[in-house]
Parts: sequence; C-alpha cells; structure tokens
Amino acid sequence: MTIFEKIARREIPAAIVHEEDDFFAFKDVNPQAPVHVLIVPKRVIPGLSGSVPGDAELLGRMLVASKEIAKKLGVAESGYRLVINHGADAGESVPHLHIHLLGGRAMAWPPG
Ligand code: 5GP
Repeated sequence: MTIFEKIARREIPAAIVHEEDDFFAFKDVNPQAPVHVLIVPKRVIPGLSGSVPGDAELLGRMLVASKEIAKKLGVAESGYRLVINHGADAGESVPHLHIHLLGGRAMAWPPG
C-alpha cells in the first residue's frame, strides 16, 4: 500500500484540506512554499505512465477542483502552480499519482 493510500484510510495522519469520494487534498509534510498541498486519487494510479483512459474523468475533476482548493487556501488571486513529477529526473518519490499545488510566494521559471 502506498503512503497516500494509508493517509486516505486515516492510518497515517495528514492535514486534509479538501475531500471528495474518490480524491482528496492534504498539506505536504515537507512544504516547498507557504501553500503546498497534494491532490491525490484515493485509489492508486501508479504515476502518469500507469494511467489509463478510464482515469481521465477522475484526473479532470482533480484539476477542476484545484481552483476551489486554491481559493480555500487563499492563493487563487495571487497565483499558484500545479506540478506532476514523473520519473527520477523530475524527482518523483511516491509511486501514486499526485498533483502538487504550490503558492504563497513568487516562483521562478524554469523550475530547478
Ligand atoms: P513527489 O516527489 O513524488 O512528486 O512528491 C511526493 C511528496 O509527498 C513530497 O513533496 C513529500 O514531501 C510528500 N510526502 C511524502 N510522504 C508524506 C507523508 O507521509 N505525508 C505528507 N503529508 N506528505 C508526504
């Protein structure tokens, strides 16, 4: 079981900021910005390479929900960044698809 499945089952504590039937969002334990949450499907999609066409609706709803989460966390107006790290070069560390939502400070481009 991935660490995010354990969080979804409340076996590991996390600060949950948004929850729906099949996905939720919680604060990253090692925040890289004043606002840093992870938007995560409750069932494991093992990274983008493990996604299938049947995941498209869920992934789309997670993206649409990100604007409500950003509003709730006070960064909708100031701006925020969504990130999916895929694979070793991108720094992916948890093999359970997740979208980072980062905000609350100005960010550089390109990312480091
Ligand atoms: P990745 O590097 O795979 O894109 O992102 C994984 C993220 O999960 C990291 O930012 C890391 O800080 C976060 N993370 C890993 N374990 C835990 C945990 O147990 N609780 C929470 N809240 N975040 C975690």
